[in-house]
Amino acid sequence: MLKFPIYLDNNATTPVDPRVLEAMIPFFTGDFGNAASRSHAYGWKAEEAVEYARTQIATLIGATDKEIVFTSGATESNNLAIKGVADFYKDKGDHLITTRTEHKCVLDTMKRLERQGYKVTWLDTDKTGRVTAQQVRDAITDKTILVSVMWANNEIGTLQPIAEIGKVCREKKVLFHTDAVQGVGKLPFNVDEMNVDLVSLTAHKIYGPKGVGALYVRRKPTRVRLTPIIDGGGHERGMRSGTLNVPGIVGFGKACELAKAEMAEEGLRTGRLRKRLQDYFFTHLDHLELNGHPDQRLPGNLNISFAFVEGEALMMAIKNVAVSSGSACTSASLEPSYVLRACGVTEDLAHTSIRFGVGRFTTEEEIDYVGKYVTDQVKKLREMSPLYEMAKEGVDLSKIEWAAH
Ligand SMILES: *Cc1c(COP(=O)(O)O)cnc(C)c1O
Repeated sequence: MLKFPIYLDNNATTPVDPRVLEAMIPFFTGDFGNAASRSHAYGWKAEEAVEYARTQIATLIGATDKEIVFTSGATESNNLAIKGVADFYKDKGDHLITTRTEHKCVLDTMKRLERQGYKVTWLDTDKTGRVTAQQVRDAITDKTILVSVMWANNEIGTLQPIAEIGKVCREKKVLFHTDAVQGVGKLPFNVDEMNVDLVSLTAHKIYGPKGVGALYVRRKPTRVRLTPIIDGGGHERGMRSGTLNVPGIVGFGKACELAKAEMAEEGLRTGRLRKRLQDYFFTHLDHLELNGHPDQRLPGNLNISFAFVEGEALMMAIKNVAVSSGSACTSASLEPSYVLRACGVTEDLAHTSIRFGVGRFTTEEEIDYVGKYVTDQVKKLREMSPLYEMAKEGVDLSKIEWAAH
């Protein structure tokens, strides 16, 4: 039995795995202690649970426990990494490097630093959303203090060559931060193999609860220093004050443990379902564009532009499926995705783009339904499109000079 709308927005958030919820429950009522309370068993129990989770998270990325700083999520982790480094190392330099396809919370943090007088180099990506280690090398100056490049893109699933970029940063003695939110837990990631100094993580993209995340901060061989952005009781070795979200952290830890145990199998399964959906669309519809990289991408992410349909009409027509469109609804205006625009996708085509995010709980039955359903709806919309008629007849629409009325 299918349940509607079918959830295929797993790059936006994931449901909490029931095994994660089960691990969390005792820490709301019975074991509710403050992990910073050192004088009684309630506190000790909470602290023990937090430290156990810290190990589960560190183990997933090949880090040590002391390198994990808990936060409220990846937005905060990205802010802390970038602002924290920018402030602490401001006497060393004022230059940062990033890409045009980062998550909004990286872009806006960088823009704020620009307004404060820092200099930011914005690397262009190729059509698949990738930058190269050579681009990073060419952009580094003696004033560069941080490079921030995401591992996996949340819209188009493209994987960046993190290990190679990290190698360049090592060689040039520049700190390297990666927003690894979308990739960690889905594909193997090791902080040493990837040559990274700072890594942002969040629980709710890997079947953990919302509102809890972490920042990996390297200690060895070189200890990375940060100016905190939240002052207070000095929790998390002074890098992030505030009473720890114990149930959330316990859930995050459990989510990491499950991801580690099931990643290989789950990656194959979600990859196979994504490919099944992709193949269905490409055999039953013409004039489609696959956005992102053909193989350097997250296994469960599919992003397709359906030419000759109107973006809003398409979203209205596929109400039985919960997906995201290439139009980011910011305030009143319907703006096309800046990620797709950075990849050279035209504004028109960006509006017709749909992101399908296959997850742990997606079934083959759901994929087969969505494939046929979306295909039928696109065909219906195209029947009403004179442009599609012309394209089918072989008219090159880009060469037409439209008469002005
Ligand atoms: C979801 C997401 C974030 C934000 O994480 P929150 O925990 O929701 O603040 C940051 N970066 C990427 C790539 C994401 O997908």
